Amino acid sequence: MTHPSLTSWVGSANGHPDFPLQNLPLGIFSRPGGQPCGGVAIGDRILDLTTALGAGLFRGDAAIAAEAASGECLNPFFALPPPLRLALRQALQTLLRQGSEQQPAMTALGDTLLVPRADCDLHLPARVGDYTDFYVGIHHARNVGALFRPDQPLLPNYKYVPVGYHGRASTVCVSGTPVRRPHGQTLPPGHDRPIFGPCQRLDYELELGVWIGPGNVMGEPIAIAEAGQHMAGVCLLNDWSARDVQAWEYQPLGPFLAKNFATSVSPWVVTAEALAPFRRAQPPRPDGDPQPLPYLLDATDQATGALDIRLEVLLLTQAMRAHGLAPERLAVSSTLNMYWTIAQLIAHHSAGGCRLQPGDLFGSGTLSGAQPDAVGSLLESTLGGQRALTLANGEQRTFLLDGDEVILRARCYCEGYPSIGLGECRGLVLPAR
Ligand code: MN
Repeated sequence: MTHPSLTSWVGSANGHPDFPLQNLPLGIFSRPGGQPCGGVAIGDRILDLTTALGAGLFRGDAAIAAEAASGECLNPFFALPPPLRLALRQALQTLLRQGSEQQPAMTALGDTLLVPRADCDLHLPARVGDYTDFYVGIHHARNVGALFRPDQPLLPNYKYVPVGYHGRASTVCVSGTPVRRPHGQTLPPGHDRPIFGPCQRLDYELELGVWIGPGNVMGEPIAIAEAGQHMAGVCLLNDWSARDVQAWEYQPLGPFLAKNFATSVSPWVVTAEALAPFRRAQPPRPDGDPQPLPYLLDATDQATGALDIRLEVLLLTQAMRAHGLAPERLAVSSTLNMYWTIAQLIAHHSAGGCRLQPGDLFGSGTLSGAQPDAVGSLLESTLGGQRALTLANGEQRTFLLDGDEVILRARCYCEGYPSIGLGECRGLVLPAR
């Protein structure tokens, strides 16, 4: 764990709510007209790893890791064992801390080394080989289940199996990419045959994204005790959902076109190492719930495998934008609402022999909390569209309208330590074509 009082000679890092010296998330960026390449967020700057390597700022393991993170995607970096990731983190903190011996040399490189973040475009951090979306937000599962099965909101498998489905990797897109309202088949109320047309019930899902680090060999499951070592880092993830399409198509095999048109992720990868101060014990299961089966149960994972990340959803409508209003917060939740730890997701995913690869992406599932102001989808907050939300400017929403922008934010707080943030995951809804 990085010392909480460590500060940087990059002035904007100190007191920065997301990107102080204690965070150092990695991402892929480009300068205007430039090629995508790897960098590290520090305050309002991006440290260009290629420039840093060229200046000879890294040695040994840190140089190997910097090289792996300096290209056009982070997959080679994700493939590294955690000690190499840690070596890069420690080298960056030595270089960037107040009083660093390298400060004069680094300052002399100016904007070639420390690029103003506002001038850059951010890209998908990795080539996503496979994307899997889970359903571990138990309050979401219960809220949604209650809409369809008031007498049995949670199905009998929920507390035994980390429920998930294989999603679509090709339409994972970076924050800021507009999302076109999808077409699909729906069965409108009162009809006995479906129609094909634009989705009328477009929704967001507030999720944690998990970037998979080192993979496994096909047929060789990852044991629960080692599973935590296979997480490279986290991001925010919006699992855009066409609820009317979903309702008609999802049985018996689960989501298809309702989910495969877009999944947005935030650009910065907050590493497992940066998250260490925000690890918590997995919240105890309520009395009467079964214990996880042995292949999903590990004492260390139960003691330290949860993350305490505060999550927010905000909405910026076209009218709010036109009147210069700030986005309105719709919900605040937490990753402590996960019924399963990330290590349990990794162990379960590979338990049958499935091969995970560096750059695979997991979504946690919608992370609603127990309170009414903590729900991570409109499906829940409007009770399936039956009760409209009234926004502060008087507008109403049951589902998303064209011109709405959904903004996810996340930050970690703990007493006596600087906050670190995941940044934002934004997406603007475009009209159907
Ligand atoms: Mn989802």
